[in-house]
Amino acid sequence: MSDNNIRVRFAPSPTGPLHIGGVRTALYNYLFARKHGGKFILRIEDTDQTRFVPGAQDYIIEAFKWCGIEFDEGVTKGGDYGPYTQSERKAIYKQYAEQLITSGHAYYAFDTSEELSVKRAAFEAEKKTFTYNASERLNMGNSLSLPKEEVDQLLSNNTPFVIRFKMPDEERVVMNDLIRGKVEVNTKVLDDKILFKSDGMPTYHLANIIDDHLMEISHVIRGEEWLPSLPLHVLLYRAFGWEEPEFAHLPLLLKPDGNGKLSKRDGDRLGFPVFPLQWKDPKTGEISNGYREEGYFPEAFVNMLALLGWNPGDERELFSLEELIEAFSIERVNKSGAKFDAEKAKWFNHQYLIKKSDKELAEAFAPILLKKGILADKVFVVKIVGLIKERATFVADLWDQSSFFFKRPEDYDKKAVKKRWKAASYNQMTELKEILLKTEPFTSENTEKAVKSWIEENEYGMGAVMNAFRLLVVGALKGPHLFDIIALLGQEETLERITLGLQELGRKE
Ligand code: GLU
Repeated sequence: MSDNNIRVRFAPSPTGPLHIGGVRTALYNYLFARKHGGKFILRIEDTDQTRFVPGAQDYIIEAFKWCGIEFDEGVTKGGDYGPYTQSERKAIYKQYAEQLITSGHAYYAFDTSEELSVKRAAFEAEKKTFTYNASERLNMGNSLSLPKEEVDQLLSNNTPFVIRFKMPDEERVVMNDLIRGKVEVNTKVLDDKILFKSDGMPTYHLANIIDDHLMEISHVIRGEEWLPSLPLHVLLYRAFGWEEPEFAHLPLLLKPDGNGKLSKRDGDRLGFPVFPLQWKDPKTGEISNGYREEGYFPEAFVNMLALLGWNPGDERELFSLEELIEAFSIERVNKSGAKFDAEKAKWFNHQYLIKKSDKELAEAFAPILLKKGILADKVFVVKIVGLIKERATFVADLWDQSSFFFKRPEDYDKKAVKKRWKAASYNQMTELKEILLKTEPFTSENTEKAVKSWIEENEYGMGAVMNAFRLLVVGALKGPHLFDIIALLGQEETLERITLGLQELGRKE
C-alpha cells in the first residue's frame, strides 16, 4: 500500500470519559498517519443507544484538542466519507446485513429473550454453557431452522428479529496482526454473533467493519481487548468479498503492579487520574480527576503515554509530538502490556517544567499569585521562578517553593527553631545585620563573600550561622541558595526580616 493511501481511525463509543488507554490508541493512530502522510479519522460508534452518555463526545474532542492530536476528517470536522457518527448512518447498515443473508452468511433469528433464558437455564442445569452456534442453531427459532413460509410470515407480521452471523462450523481462520504476527483460531470456539439488533441498529461488529470498508481504512490500530473480535471481523470482510485492512492490536495499560488492566478504581486508590480531563458523571454528579486539572502539561502527558507500550529503540525518553511522529513505528510497539507508573508521569511533567523558560513559567504562575492576593513585579517573579523551578513538578508547586519571597515569615518552623536557634544565634544574627548593611552592591556573590569571611574570622560554625540566618529570612529550613534568596529580596527587606526574626525568637536561654 502506498503511503498516501494510509487512512486510520479512532472509533470511540461515547459511553463516558475517555480512559488514558483510549488516548494512547488515538495517539498511536495519529502518529502513524502523520508519519506516513496519511489521514486520521474520528468516528463515533454510538450504535448501542443504551450505553450512550451525553457529553462524552464533546469530552473526547476536548481531550484531543488539549493533547494536540488533530483529526483530518470526522465528527465536527466533516470529510468525503461522512457522516462520521454511526447513528446518522443507520440507513446504510441494514442493506449490508440483508446482503449477508442473501449470500448465506447470516440469518434471521426470532428467539425472544425469554426463550433464550430458558435455553441457558436448561444448559446450566446440566453444568454446560449455552452457545448460539453451529451445533445449536438448528434447535433455535431462526431462518435456518424454520420453514421458509413461516419465516416469511414472521417477517411480514413484523415479528422482532435479530440478524446473526452464520459462523462456519469448523474452519481454521488465519489472520495477521502487525504487532503479534500470525494469529490463528478455529471457528468451532466462536458463536453466531448478532450483527443487527431488533431495535433496527447494527451491532458494533457489523457497523465497525462496514464503516472501515466504506471509509477506506487501511490500518485498524486498536486496543488488545478487540483481538477476540478479529476472527469475526476478518470473516465478515471475506463474506462481503472485501479487502481486509491491516490490523494492529495494542498492548493493554496495566495496573502499576502489573496485575490486570488499569482501571479507574486503581487511580482512585493510588491517587492518580486515569482520564485526560476531569469528568463529571451526568447521572451521579461524581467527579473523576483529569491530568489537565492535576496540572500536567499536555506535552508531558502525551510524551508519557507514547512510551507506555512503544519504545524508540534507544535510550531517549523526551519527545515532542514532532519527534514522536518522526520516531514512531508499529514494529516497535510492544506485545506485552505496559505497567502504568504514576511517578514516571510526574517525572515527565518535571522535565517539561524545567525546559520551559522562566518567563513562560512566570506567566503560568501569575494567576496563582493573583489568587493569593499577591501583586508582584513581573521581573521579580521571573527571577524567583528561575531559582526554584528545579524543585517543582507542577506549576502549582511553585507557590510552595516560593511563598516566602512574597510574604515575610508569619511563624517560624518550630522543630527547626528548637534545633537550630542556639544560644549564640541572637548575637551572631545581630552582628550579621551589620555585615549585610555594609555590603554594596547587595548581590548574591558579594553577600556570600562578606558573610563567609566574617564567619571564618570569628571562627563561627558555618552550619549553625547559615541555618539560623535561613530561619530568620525564610521561616523554615527550606528554599534555594540563601544568598540568591536575599539578593532577590534586597538589602532592606533582608535586614527587616532579620530584625523581626530576632524580636520573635529572642535570646535562647
Ligand atoms: N467502538 C469501539 C470502542 O469503543 C471501537 C473499537 C475499534 O477500534 O474497532 O473501542
